[in-house]
Amino acid sequence: MSATVVWYRNDLRLEDHAALTHATERGDVVPLFVWAPDEEGDWAPGGAHRWWLHESLLALDTSLRDKGSRLVLRDGPSLEAVLDVCRATGADRVVWQTRLAPNLASRDSEVRRALEDEGIEVRQFAGRILHDPEQVQTGSGGPYKVFTPFWKKMQAETDVSEPLPVPRLGETKGPDEWPGSADLEDFGLTPEAQDGVDWAGAMRDEWTPGEAGALERLDTFLAESVLEYPEGRNVPSARDTSMLSPHLHWGEISPRLVWHRSQDRVTNGATREAVDKFLSEIGWREFSYHVLHHFPETPSEPLKEKYAKMPWKDDEDALEAWQRGQTGYPLVDAGMRQLYAIGWMHNRTRMVTASFLTKDLLVRWQDGAEWFWDALVGGDLANNSMGWQWAAGSGADAQPFFRIFNPVSQSKKHDPDGAYIRQWVPELADLPTKHIHAPWDAPADVLEDAGVVLGETYPAPMVDHGEARDRALEAVKQVNG
Ligand code: FAD
Repeated sequence: MSATVVWYRNDLRLEDHAALTHATERGDVVPLFVWAPDEEGDWAPGGAHRWWLHESLLALDTSLRDKGSRLVLRDGPSLEAVLDVCRATGADRVVWQTRLAPNLASRDSEVRRALEDEGIEVRQFAGRILHDPEQVQTGSGGPYKVFTPFWKKMQAETDVSEPLPVPRLGETKGPDEWPGSADLEDFGLTPEAQDGVDWAGAMRDEWTPGEAGALERLDTFLAESVLEYPEGRNVPSARDTSMLSPHLHWGEISPRLVWHRSQDRVTNGATREAVDKFLSEIGWREFSYHVLHHFPETPSEPLKEKYAKMPWKDDEDALEAWQRGQTGYPLVDAGMRQLYAIGWMHNRTRMVTASFLTKDLLVRWQDGAEWFWDALVGGDLANNSMGWQWAAGSGADAQPFFRIFNPVSQSKKHDPDGAYIRQWVPELADLPTKHIHAPWDAPADVLEDAGVVLGETYPAPMVDHGEARDRALEAVKQVNG
């Protein structure tokens, strides 16, 4: 019987997996994952990614074993690993799901050519996003750079097909003899293996990596929170967003399945409005991939070229204070500490912290993107590049540079009772709500009663926002001048 190697990458699931379904229909199936971070260049998985990957690979292996199969693990280089597994099992076809990652495009083409030279057939399948990024084009035939017309056109012209069921693997679908597999521990993905200390305690409490965790997260969100989503998505202390980003990044759930289950939730006008709002964010994900596909340099270069002239400040101390959540601006610090603790940050605080870094501190957006990449469990090249270029004014449909978030007004508006700040900046927890957004304006006795000593228990603001804003507006003149 013909055997097919299913080369898993960022698609760590069984359901709605076109490559796995194809292999199963064809004959024997050999699921394979290859650990080859060097091949991903500057965008190899960051520290938090590695923790997640370790857990997700365990979960995938468990799901496959439940079906009578298993996950074969190998160290890179990818080509050697894939070839070796083909030879060991007699597989004559290799299938994978395209990742739409520009940093891996040439690697994948080389592997494909080399396998074909060996007489092994290769098939690539879609599934990372809802639609092929070439499918939607502007009236004049180019890529979109503005979200709303992109999303309208996509919805008008393309249907989202039904997800595929979990294929029937079963005992009969394995090779006669399973090839050797590496030990997952040897990939060195755990925090202890990376840094000698376990920094993932809060992540473990927060997340369940793997397909079952992804499905549970989606179902809970649709059952309990989606109705609150249009408002709640702006309130960092509310748990009203789906928190699906890492699951989508690792491909533990397909956007197609998210789409259809969300549509099934619609029973009346209120759910229609809420579900549409949620799905429009899945639309932003589509848009990010569309932009990355057409402008593959955008993870490191501004889409609007004139922004290359921006006079950024080379300020390591400022960058570090921001990374550690020690800027003296409570909402910014809360966001940065949430990120460090659980590998995820609410979208509102992503926008505020990114604005603070690029505008108040005038530090390059690329430095912020790198930090997010290392700290996010769901750091995603398309979405992260889009988010950072949006914040820095240089991207597709970006926030204009002159719109500079005031971190105190943002805090009063989106964390009105200070609950988010109290959770993530506990040294300010006893401040009255009136003063929690800007402790430096609090009277001395209020600070004393709350046990806050500015500059000792909590930093004084590292910049004056009004002055920083003027400086940023002066700096951007060099771009526009
Ligand atoms: P929900 O609000 O529940 O949205 C559902 C899904 O839609 C998300 O999981 C995500 O896949 C997608 N989505 C939502 N908002 C956006 C958006 N603005 N752009 C693109 N896709 C979106 N998202 C990432 O997945 N990975 C990143 O590395 C990332 N980096 C970002 C960096 C910055 C500076 C900013 C401003 C945004 C970034 N985002 C990133 C987008 C967004 O903040 C997150 O997707 C969202 O907060 C994740 O939470 P959620 O899953 O609860 O989102």
